[in-house]
Amino acid sequence: MKMPPHVLSYVRRLGRLPAYVYDLPGLRAHAEAIRNALRAPSAAGGPELYYAAKANADAPILRVLDPFVDGIEISSGGELVHVRRTLPHARLAFGGPGKTDQELRLALDLNIDRIHVESPHELHRIAALERPAGILLRANLPFATSGAALSMSGPFGMDEDALETCAKLVSERPWLRLHGIHAHLASGLHAPAMLDLASRILDWALPWLRDRCGITEPEVNVGGGMAVDYTAPDTLFDWRSYAEGLASLTPPGVRLRIEPGRAVTAYHGWYVTDVLDVKNTRGDTYVVLRGGTHHLRTPVTKGH
Ligand SMILES: *Cc1c(COP(=O)(O)O)cnc(C)c1O
Repeated sequence: MKMPPHVLSYVRRLGRLPAYVYDLPGLRAHAEAIRNALRAPSAAGGPELYYAAKANADAPILRVLDPFVDGIEISSGGELVHVRRTLPHARLAFGGPGKTDQELRLALDLNIDRIHVESPHELHRIAALERPAGILLRANLPFATSGAALSMSGPFGMDEDALETCAKLVSERPWLRLHGIHAHLASGLHAPAMLDLASRILDWALPWLRDRCGITEPEVNVGGGMAVDYTAPDTLFDWRSYAEGLASLTPPGVRLRIEPGRAVTAYHGWYVTDVLDVKNTRGDTYVVLRGGTHHLRTPVTKGH
């Protein structure tokens, strides 16, 4: 998105660079537009909105988003403590592989709403705490997604065998409350591909939750990954058609949830720095900035 004039004039007055600059009124309007799309009458029965804090967990950003989201997804003990302190009443979901026992205990102490379980071993460790815990099982489903910028297979979530193991374990541990399935399978998809993915997740998850786990009012979290096109920043994800499509896929009694990160915040933040030099070396042009690649690690690594 082009930098709005009020941000540009602010940046011109900045004494020290580099800086990350956020347009909070712009972010508020964008979050409200997403919320309105999800709550439109034509999308009745559509999804709840969680914000994936890893996209940007700065406290002022969380406070701007708070009125427009149903909860926050966090994926480390540090994020958990920070988000709980910033938004004491927000519903929180704890995702991501590599949770320590200490972090799991902390999550229950801090009244986390859902834990997204990544493996049978993790579920055993949660069960061993012998405390009430609301969980979703994170599924790693073999759905090819062409056009995805990033596919979340590999170590993320569980295959069908591991999910079976978890279903059995849950049934023997009454203090564990299984609510449904979580599946964040790809990122960088536009609305039609995201809807196709969501429909395949639901086609698998709903019968499994009903027949295997006896859950009559299941929750399904279909993840984030809504496209942010870095080469065409004025082309926004089509939240309205996505919300309407999801609503039409969701049978009564099913609670659907999404957890986008970047598509919520990316358009209202900028990395601002000075160009110190532009040089040509052996036919290639290099722009030398004040700053280092650790300031823009993801775009550098992913070649955005
Ligand atoms: C990264 C991540 C998200 C958010 O992804 P975006 O591409 O920023 O929307 C949501 N859920 C999980 C589990 C993630 O790892």
